Amino acid sequence: MTAPIAVAACDPPTSKRDDGNSRALELLSAMPDIVSASLNISVLTECPQCEASIDLMNQNDTSGVDHNEEGGVVSQACPDGCWTTQHQSFKVRTVKCSECCKEFDVHGLEW
Ligand SMILES: [Zn+2]
Repeated sequence: MTAPIAVAACDPPTSKRDDGNSRALELLSAMPDIVSASLNISVLTECPQCEASIDLMNQNDTSGVDHNEEGGVVSQACPDGCWTTQHQSFKVRTVKCSECCKEFDVHGLEW
């Protein structure tokens, strides 16, 4: 039993014209567009006092402190080797909650 081909909707409209440009137009439409991607990294934790959600990559959440200065958070979040093992030693010291000003350490990282 053959399933209907759903991808047909993504095919570009084909030109039925048969003038001299049709071959060039076909070639142009066959070329994929190229765009860049953006990588967004959030390293989320929770204030132990007020339970505010805190992104360790966002200074607005950490009382203006850039914990990723010199890549300290990203290098621990995306380490060489086995992430599951390496993340057990993930550590960010003295995070200050922007909501309640409680200071705490973060140890360990789940992903
Ligand atoms: Zn808090």
